[in-house]
Amino acid sequence: MPIYQQIYEELREAILAGTLPETTRLPPERALAGRLGVNRSTVVHAYRELVSDGLIEQRVGSGSRVSRSLQGGHPQRTADVPWWVTLPPWRVGSFPQVLGELAATFHDERISFVQGVPPVEPSPLPELAKSFERVAGDPDYVLSYGDSEGHAPLRRAIAARMQRRGCRVEAREVLVLTGSTQGITLVAQSLAEPGDEIIVEQPTYPGALQIFQIAGLRAIPVAVDDEGLRVDHVEAILRTRRPRFIYVMPSLHNPMGVTMNADRRQRLVTLARRARVPLVEDDPYGELVESPHPPLVSLSPDYVVYLSTFSKTIAPSLRLGWVTAPRAIYERLLLRKQSYDMATSLYVQAGVCDYLSRAYDEHVVRLRRELLVRRGLARDAIEKHWPKTTRVANGSGGFYLWATAAREVRARALLDTAERLGATFLFGEAFYAASGGERNFRLAITPMTHDDMAEGIRRIGEAFAAVSSR
Ligand code: PMP
Repeated sequence: MPIYQQIYEELREAILAGTLPETTRLPPERALAGRLGVNRSTVVHAYRELVSDGLIEQRVGSGSRVSRSLQGGHPQRTADVPWWVTLPPWRVGSFPQVLGELAATFHDERISFVQGVPPVEPSPLPELAKSFERVAGDPDYVLSYGDSEGHAPLRRAIAARMQRRGCRVEAREVLVLTGSTQGITLVAQSLAEPGDEIIVEQPTYPGALQIFQIAGLRAIPVAVDDEGLRVDHVEAILRTRRPRFIYVMPSLHNPMGVTMNADRRQRLVTLARRARVPLVEDDPYGELVESPHPPLVSLSPDYVVYLSTFSKTIAPSLRLGWVTAPRAIYERLLLRKQSYDMATSLYVQAGVCDYLSRAYDEHVVRLRRELLVRRGLARDAIEKHWPKTTRVANGSGGFYLWATAAREVRARALLDTAERLGATFLFGEAFYAASGGERNFRLAITPMTHDDMAEGIRRIGEAFAAVSSR
């Protein structure tokens, strides 16, 4: 099938299914072409077909939008459409496929600040490859399914590492996951039912928002400041409402980079116990904090479901994470996990377990150092190239910078311009459960070289100049 037709078919299905509701603005042709790595004329051709079907409308100056009056359907358009195309969509908010976006790798000249992946240097690969070679000595074992709970030595190693951070966790309380994304899904489906309320931070990790929306959960957003989640707001909400759980990133929060102070941690745990609402602590970056506070799970193991991953400290391609939970919750998570994938790759688990015992600690020390260097360089470049009216959150480390532009700047417009100038990032609305975030955006400072990082920040500075001179 020609490429224009593939684009046409995808968009047509999304429009007919309602995933792209009436009046949704489609990306400018040039931007979509850039994102897909195709010629602009290919996208023009696809859009023209959609116009002739009556599915989209184009106006000079305001681009392309999904036509009005599709609600109720156009009989002539839907008659020949199979039923699954017209299934009611999930209501997945302003940025429905963010997990796909976060996972995709761009192959073009743009400098991408989108993905939170570890930097290529320091590389875990030489030692990791050795570990995989070592475990291949036991082929009958590493090529089999293995227990759903996970590879026993890995569960012990994870528990021991958590104990060193002050958590009273036993190996039997560790459930190995195929990435912590799996854990967020398991939690969303095991602790709540469609229509239930949950508390999330605002801003929060957009991948989690996508999962919660697909599970039909209603997110109550609570603000985050430089000291982390506003626990006083949580307290006010818990006076009148009983959310199913509170999803929170206390250390190196994504996207703000802030770390919750000890006092707030203690207050949050006390509140959760009093209200009998479990905390879901998402902690992919905890090992990267320079001066760590105790994880929430160490303060109250019976009220905290704790999630973490090796995606940020080793590599996301491993798809290896874990969850610990109070027993009754653990059993529910385990059953659901079995229904997804039976077990996480034993080969990967055994390889990483070997790596943990030999090379991981040293790697993490080097990684922390590298993140600090990058942060300094990024801040210098921002200072030099961006308007002084742009505020960057006072994060304490990690992979991300969270920016708030001056009132007149819309981050989406800035992104359109930046993409033309050869830099791309994630706009703020994706991080908001409710409305808001229009002036915000996130830079991941890890996926590129130091030079490209500085150059990308310069290009975004150029985009600032272009949008504010309009
Ligand atoms: N939670 C947070 C806060 C994250 O930032 C990420 C990755 N960006 C994940 C979970 C997902 O990690 P994994 O690769 O383990 O699925």
